[in-house]
Amino acid sequence: MKLSLDDCLRDALTQQSQQGLLRQLMPVTEVDGRLVRQGEKLLVNFSSNDYLGLARHPKLQEAALQAVRDWGTGSTASRLICGSLQVHHLLEEQLAAYKGTAAALIFSTGHAAAMGTVPALVGREDIVILDRLAHACLVDAARLSGAALRVFRHNDLNDLERLLRWADDRRTQAARQPRPLRILVVTESVFSMDGDQAPLAAIVELKDRYGAWLMVDEAHATGLFGPRGEGLIAAAGLTQRVEIQMGTLGKALGSAGGFIAGSRPLIDWLIQAARTFMFSTAPTPSQSAVAATAVQLVQSAEGTRLRAQLWKHVHQATRMAVRGDLQWPGLSLPPSSAILPWVAGESARALACAETARQMGLLIPAIRYPAVPRHRARLRITISAAHLPEDLALLERFLLQIAGASLTPTPAPRF
Ligand SMILES: *Cc1c(COP(=O)(O)O)cnc(C)c1O
Repeated sequence: MKLSLDDCLRDALTQQSQQGLLRQLMPVTEVDGRLVRQGEKLLVNFSSNDYLGLARHPKLQEAALQAVRDWGTGSTASRLICGSLQVHHLLEEQLAAYKGTAAALIFSTGHAAAMGTVPALVGREDIVILDRLAHACLVDAARLSGAALRVFRHNDLNDLERLLRWADDRRTQAARQPRPLRILVVTESVFSMDGDQAPLAAIVELKDRYGAWLMVDEAHATGLFGPRGEGLIAAAGLTQRVEIQMGTLGKALGSAGGFIAGSRPLIDWLIQAARTFMFSTAPTPSQSAVAATAVQLVQSAEGTRLRAQLWKHVHQATRMAVRGDLQWPGLSLPPSSAILPWVAGESARALACAETARQMGLLIPAIRYPAVPRHRARLRITISAAHLPEDLALLERFLLQIAGASLTPTPAPRF
């Protein structure tokens, strides 16, 4: 029997479309933390992760140009061959100092950082315990590792402890194995689609009590929290107690890439075993030079000023969202992040809200399954330091509009 690839895929695409889950790419002709142009239409951008508006910062643009002049455009090979450029080492030193760790290692993307790191640390004999709402790359990385995967209810410490107790029992049973069973807990500090924070201090207590290791993804916290924007781990004084800190360079830092920060043995081991690091061309010199400049910038007085601006905007947006006439569940003051999720429920409803936003001149995409659980489709509104007062006023008009159209969000998530 001849099975046509295109016929199979056309069927799959039709199904996707019938479920309101079809994705289509929108060519953008101009974008920054504040605005996005799609063809003729100029929209206020409430969808980017450019929280501090750095992606168009003149200093970062200049760093990119200078790196191209100094190094050329490509890094020419894997880090382990001839691609380990000085600019990569400089960035890693800066990231380690920024995060307060002995060392750091960069990857081409945050996704690659996760996919390389988890399987380098745990395998078939081991156990990974993951927050239910952890990012897809953390789930994929845990699956790839071959470890037994257990999921705890989102931010639920009792459920986490139940799984840690189970894992600890398994370890006792496996005590005669040649090497002790490893237990790795994986979570995010700020959740990418819900904007809430993990109870890091309590998670650290628990994982220590049960002899587990902890990996925390700070993709949406790096640059934003702590006196120098180090992230929530540092802000909570937990730097010495989290074994594996992960971050991205493509969000608040305005570049692209991912990294792991931790002890010297951790980084030395990842250089031996993280396959997305070993078998991949090194990040471009310009992306690393930009990130290095951004790491300096977020720690400077300008970084402090941009964070103050961002949080002022987030406070304003959250204040309007929690007003009586909007009744936006799951949000409260003070805000826990620069991500404001408006949970609409079904995909069709989220798409209708996103279309209303577009008509009013705002880009707020509908986030649907599998990025979020089924029946929990939402608008994910992200706030930037680059927004202007009139942008927030427009956002308020939009929120009132969808609230008035009785498109009020469904109650706070229960997982
Ligand atoms: C964006 C994101 C990643 C992936 O990082 P990229 O650099 O975009 O590949 C990983 N984890 C979380 C929580 C993210 O939001």
